[in-house]
Amino acid sequence: MPQATGSCPYCDLHAEPVGGWIYRDERWLVRHGPPDSTIAGGLQIISVRHFVDFAEMTDTEAGSFGRLLARLDVALRATTDAERVHLVSTRDRVAHFHAWLYPRPAGQPLRGTAFLAAPQSAEVEDLNRVAEAVRQRLRTPAQPANPAT
Ligand SMILES: [Zn+2]
Repeated sequence: MPQATGSCPYCDLHAEPVGGWIYRDERWLVRHGPPDSTIAGGLQIISVRHFVDFAEMTDTEAGSFGRLLARLDVALRATTDAERVHLVSTRDRVAHFHAWLYPRPAGQPLRGTAFLAAPQSAEVEDLNRVAEAVRQRLRTPAQPANPAT
């Protein structure tokens, strides 16, 4: 497995992000994106372990990533006016696994990649409000959307 070389910015995340850490466990970190380039509710999921691609995930990482995505989707829908939560992960600029979630408001006329490509920003006050609301929401036990039958 590739290890951090000391030049990986996501292997060396020590500073508290704007809005604080929204979620942390032994595999994943979640923070809000920067207010100058992210709408309120735009979240970044970063792997704790250094790897780049989905293909490098362990089964445990893949399973926990899917469950975390579902929980964040629920939390963003409950705390923003999102009609849809978009998932983006290119890893072209920082070669350490990370993915972005962007809540697309119901009233937003742009869709899909047009929405994602449009300039984004957030007021720090709104960012902090959503970050705290999502953090609180994640503290409640996960409820299966479709209980196993
Ligand atoms: Zn790294």
